[in-house]
Amino acid sequence: MTLIPLLTEFEKENISERQALPEKYLGLSDAEMDARISSARAKLGKKLVILGHHYQRDEVIKFADYTGDSFKLARQIAQRPEAEYIVFCGVHFMAESADVLTEPHQKVILPDLAAGCSMADMAAPDQLETCWHELTQMGVNGVVPVTYINSAASIKAFVGERGGTVCTSSNAAATLKWAFERGEKVLFLPDQHLGRNTAYKMGIPLDEMVVWDPNEIYGGLDPDEVTRARMILWKGHCSVHTRFTVQHIDAIRKKHPGVRVIVHPEVPWDVVQAADDSGSTEYIIKTIANSPAGSIWAVGTEVHLVNRLATELAPDRTVLSLEPFGCLCSTMFRVSPNHLLWILEELVDGRVHNQIVVPDDQKSWTRVALDRMLSIQ
Ligand code: SF4
Repeated sequence: MTLIPLLTEFEKENISERQALPEKYLGLSDAEMDARISSARAKLGKKLVILGHHYQRDEVIKFADYTGDSFKLARQIAQRPEAEYIVFCGVHFMAESADVLTEPHQKVILPDLAAGCSMADMAAPDQLETCWHELTQMGVNGVVPVTYINSAASIKAFVGERGGTVCTSSNAAATLKWAFERGEKVLFLPDQHLGRNTAYKMGIPLDEMVVWDPNEIYGGLDPDEVTRARMILWKGHCSVHTRFTVQHIDAIRKKHPGVRVIVHPEVPWDVVQAADDSGSTEYIIKTIANSPAGSIWAVGTEVHLVNRLATELAPDRTVLSLEPFGCLCSTMFRVSPNHLLWILEELVDGRVHNQIVVPDDQKSWTRVALDRMLSIQ
């Protein structure tokens, strides 16, 4: 059965810029694609580096020189200054960050331009401008803006220019500590769940957090509520991770007594409370890989990583998806081996497609924000 993911807002806006995959790259056998990708890779040699996010499918990630979550991959970019082409098997915001972190001679390529992120689409620069302006009008001061790496370069630039930073799920707690050393409140966007779960784990009670709805005047909030709050959470979420529920946890505990439940902090707060542990994808991998052989785990994150944990990363444990049908990130899934093959064979012939270039007027402040992120552990 062929999966046809729904289009996100990002995809709808960018679809006109997207070059269709040439017909000759359709209908190839797996064996032919593997052989041709390997051959193109070998021809490009040190000029090429392929980065693969953990949520990519197996047929693609097996060709990655480096795998990891957003934070780890952002750090890897500096390791290969000699590479001319950085093919990022991930989603659009990751390729943008890579473009900002690379040297001018390096080109960052996203194999399918329709690989966006529905969460990143939930924060637009004009909405953030309005929010910032309205907070001032409400008399709310001492706000440090922090954006999750899952956001557009324009959002990162805005935050960087106003003394804020970017965070990832790996360094979110350290980032909030950093921000509270610089201000009284944090405006956290676009993922309310990562913001809430991280702040709560650090001891900030729920009644000191408010949710800012960018589609409402003054975020739909009363100035007193915002003045009392320490965390102003943007009303955004991940459509994959919010599918996990407490009912899933109850059901899996019943079916597999002794199971340990571990979830990504993009899941809702009540799910984190009902789980045994939570953390970034790198944390999840490390925790399960270091657990005793024979342990049983239910994992609340994207299904490709869960399957890979079961088969490759932690084979002596039983690793199950917390959601029985497995939660798939449809935009990550857009990067197919066919796209990767097309991109690489065109590079062999000197043609660059799907290059991601952050506009110059956003680059310097985005770089400031990303450098702050990389310095916070
Ligand atoms: S899993 Fe969620 S946050 Fe991550 S890329 Fe997919 S939609 Fe975006």
